[in-house]
Amino acid sequence: YVLIQEGTKVKGEVAFKEGLYNEKTAVDTVKKVFALIAEEGTRNCIVCGRPFSSPVKKLQQAAYPPVTKIKSLSGVRSYKDGEVYSFKEYFEDFCPTCYLIGLSEWSDDGIIYRTIPGEKSTLFLPRLNSLEALAKFKKSYRPLLNKSSRYRNIRVKEGSEETENPSGSFSTLICFYEKFFFGVDKKEVIGKSWVMMEVPFGAVKNIKLSVIDLAESTLRVIKELSNEKISTYKEIIAEIFFFYDNPKGAPVDWDLTGKIRENLSEAILKDDFRSFARNLLPRKGGRVGYSKDTRLNIEELIYIWRLRYMGIPKEKIDIVKSVGNIVAKASKNNPSLLYKLDKTKNIDTFWSVLREISRKLIGFDENDRKMIKPTALDGLIQLVKDNEDRWKEIRDLLVVYSSMYYAIGGMKEEKENE
Ligand SMILES: [Zn+2]
Repeated sequence: YVLIQEGTKVKGEVAFKEGLYNEKTAVDTVKKVFALIAEEGTRNCIVCGRPFSSPVKKLQQAAYPPVTKIKSLSGVRSYKDGEVYSFKEYFEDFCPTCYLIGLSEWSDDGIIYRTIPGEKSTLFLPRLNSLEALAKFKKSYRPLLNKSSRYRNIRVKEGSEETENPSGSFSTLICFYEKFFFGVDKKEVIGKSWVMMEVPFGAVKNIKLSVIDLAESTLRVIKELSNEKISTYKEIIAEIFFFYDNPKGAPVDWDLTGKIRENLSEAILKDDFRSFARNLLPRKGGRVGYSKDTRLNIEELIYIWRLRYMGIPKEKIDIVKSVGNIVAKASKNNPSLLYKLDKTKNIDTFWSVLREISRKLIGFDENDRKMIKPTALDGLIQLVKDNEDRWKEIRDLLVVYSSMYYAIGGMKEEKENE
């Protein structure tokens, strides 16, 4: 992820072209930079605005990653006709202080990173209001990172050389918080805001920067799960798979599994239960599955994340589960009912899907009938009536549990057929 041009390798190790990162030239380079900083000048730095005399180097990604070769993306504007408004000198106006700070930043061992070779690197930079708080926060989590690991640096656990292997950016962040709440004792400063820097692979690196502000409540969910010794990343996200319905070779679609894990992580971090539910739906050719232990962990996550917040007591969830079971049975050979349920946009269509579910009950065979609780449907109708303004959340809960039973049903059948 380091955006410094690489030079010839030294004894098999990556070496950088930048003088500051070369053992032989570092001292001289630092001297030169400080001499330039000491000079008084009249030019203004484009990054910090301070006056300076002359630059060490022009503005490059090595010292300021967001700058790109596409001038317009770097703020360069010029108009030909009428008023000429040009920032031609833009890349030259970069002061030696900013150069030094910018380049040194790569040696910071408090940056969380994840590189997926051939695709992209993601870096997480904590955002805090004071430098003191930033330093404290970084200090608290540094032991969780392994700076000598090339592609990813979150340790499996403190003291271990092994690092976690999340499938994407958001799963990296959720993995970090899991370790943070498990491993860091003094939680005086908890960073909730991050700059996520995504660096694509290839010659032209147009960096994507986004700010992620996490809600207090979101972090509380991950924290409470760790209090119950449940790892949000390791025992939930990383235990969810996409299974092919009729596998010819490997039973798991790993590409899709990675995408689903990433989407689920993003949904949790952005407090988006709708997206969480939709990502558990079966898809063409397969279904999202997990073990029984993972299912219990997901249920605990849902309880802490949604039910308690919605004020729905734990017992009431049995009603939603039972109806989910009915939907799964009715969708056994054709998940269209499940998709229809997921797509309901207003409470009237939701009622009509519930009526459709009730009609499907008539067609159930002896076997299926034994395994369901038809009265649950009345219970659910009452639950929606009592919480009309929350019908969407109830729909999403029903989607989650229907998908869950759909997946279990599929797996049971496969076993029976074996
Ligand atoms: Zn500057």
